[in-house]
Amino acid sequence: MQAPRPIKKLRGAGEPPPNLADYTEARRRFSWAEARAELSGLPGGQGLNIAHEAVDRHAAGARRDHVAIRWLGKDGERVDVRYGELAERTARFAGALAGLGVRPGDRVYSLLGRTPELYVAALGALRHQAIFCPLFSAFGPEPLRARMSIGEARVLVTTSRLYARKVAPLRGEMPWLEHVILVDGEAPGTLSYERLLDGAPAVTRIPPTDPDQPALLHFTSGTTGTPKGALHVHAAVLMHHVTGKLALDLHPEDVFWCTADPGWVTGTSYGILAPLTNGVTLVVDEADFDAERWYEILERERVTVWYTAPTAIRMLMKAGEAPLRGRDLGALRFLASVGEPLNPDAVLWSDEVLGRPFHDGWWQTETGGIMIANFASMEVRPGSMGRPLPGVDAAIVRRTPDGGVEVIEQPDVEGELALRPGWPSMFRAYWNNPERYARCFAGGWYLTGDLARRDEDGYYWFVGRDDDVIKSAGHLIGPFEVESALLLHPAVAEAAVIGRPDPIAGEIVKAFVALKPEHAPSPDLEREIAGFARKHLGPAVAPREIAFTGSVPRTRSGKIMRRLLRARELGLPEGDLSMLEAGAGATGKAGDEAP
Ligand code: ATP
Ligand code: MG
Repeated sequence: MQAPRPIKKLRGAGEPPPNLADYTEARRRFSWAEARAELSGLPGGQGLNIAHEAVDRHAAGARRDHVAIRWLGKDGERVDVRYGELAERTARFAGALAGLGVRPGDRVYSLLGRTPELYVAALGALRHQAIFCPLFSAFGPEPLRARMSIGEARVLVTTSRLYARKVAPLRGEMPWLEHVILVDGEAPGTLSYERLLDGAPAVTRIPPTDPDQPALLHFTSGTTGTPKGALHVHAAVLMHHVTGKLALDLHPEDVFWCTADPGWVTGTSYGILAPLTNGVTLVVDEADFDAERWYEILERERVTVWYTAPTAIRMLMKAGEAPLRGRDLGALRFLASVGEPLNPDAVLWSDEVLGRPFHDGWWQTETGGIMIANFASMEVRPGSMGRPLPGVDAAIVRRTPDGGVEVIEQPDVEGELALRPGWPSMFRAYWNNPERYARCFAGGWYLTGDLARRDEDGYYWFVGRDDDVIKSAGHLIGPFEVESALLLHPAVAEAAVIGRPDPIAGEIVKAFVALKPEHAPSPDLEREIAGFARKHLGPAVAPREIAFTGSVPRTRSGKIMRRLLRARELGLPEGDLSMLEAGAGATGKAGDEAP
């Protein structure tokens, strides 16, 4: 498929110059040791602690009264928490943990909506050197039980409602869960957050922290199987800081909104840590997606930098221009996206309708921070994930039969995306699964499990996940390219593409297509879409079969679960469905409920 032309934006009047002005130059000069000087470290050279970099150093300086978190409640509340206040509250939370006998390395979990207590618990646990693990509040009992057992949670911070409905019935199976802290009430066998904090001494001095000390446990999205618990250390904060500055282009006066929930790694690395280490104001919205509400937030809060995901962007596109009418989004300066491939038409849409292109970027739970990005100073190539961050070495590799890897030097050849270990937020373990961890590395590279290609200018293009790529009549076909072409058809709302086994071709491309509400399935429409795809993709890549479906199955973080479509197609077991979004092609087995 012909890639759309690149988009180069000129800087608007009054906009600050991009932090990364010249990509090649920045890459050449970059060193992690030098970047480290941007952080302050614990006083007296006592190591590196995420909470100190995110909160305390600002609270102790000129940004004490700067708004750290602007919390927007579901029901219209609007609460500002300043850096100074955030330092006090997190110090008390750390004091409360100390009072409970929680030791460094113990796991402190949260099961909370996006309320201020979640942010206090996260940063308070980090300053106490506990390992913090945020869980998505919409998880049902089964995903909760699995994640809490894998990490053996010692403390859980939650609400009385979530506790009664989801945790209390399982408590007997969780002997390691010693303390449950309720932010909004009390129940037998639990502690009150308010009373605990009122009675706790503020631990104003963060104890010495080794940069390699474990800090965060994050579960992967479960797109390809059972979620894995990736462990990150305090040194990761350098990555959060540097990527916030270089990839998201954060400047001191920015108002930044990351729409991800901290239950996913994006919602912690960029929905808590990167904006705070950069000392900006972070907008937190408690409510779920709503096009009208989102545009209103962007306008009213004068959001300057916005980080969201392709699913949300597609939902905004679907909502049309009516909710945008009459709005002034003139404060928006930089738009970024992560989590799934960003279809080129979404980039073109945002450029046209929002006046700014979305900048795609690539990373994983395992990498802890952005690895590849379209930077503010570069032209955006719609459909490309961008170029590797300064300090990050990426390559396209091929696995060799002897268990090693071979780097593919020529451009435009598809292979596995690999990263050279050494960036500060690399995961240090899959919790309790050393074999699975070891399998991620070969020949001195971390193998990401994603297929991609690099063009001659060094831009990376996503092809598909290793497991999702279709091998048809000698061609390697990435589902993303086929789905992107299908989405260009005016009747198509969603598309997911898999390989269906075929005795002659090996696999054939099969597309599942959900139509926009004003269109109904018919053999004519099927033929028309098939012809449209052939025209855009050529006959070797276009789907040979098209099936209409009500919706496409996705994980709760919005990723297409192609493995589920494949399993259903072949009549195989559906596997771990704990991450399946309820209603999105669900069969009712996911067991999740709304929070
Ligand atoms: P699991 O590992 O449990 O199967 P997951 O890989 O979806 O789940 P995450 O770590 O949340 O869990 O997601 C990272 C993956 O998301 C990447 O490996 C990649 O496949 C996909 N991804 C992230 N950003 C992009 C992007 N910009 N373009 C294409 N794919 C992306
Ligand atoms: Mg993964």
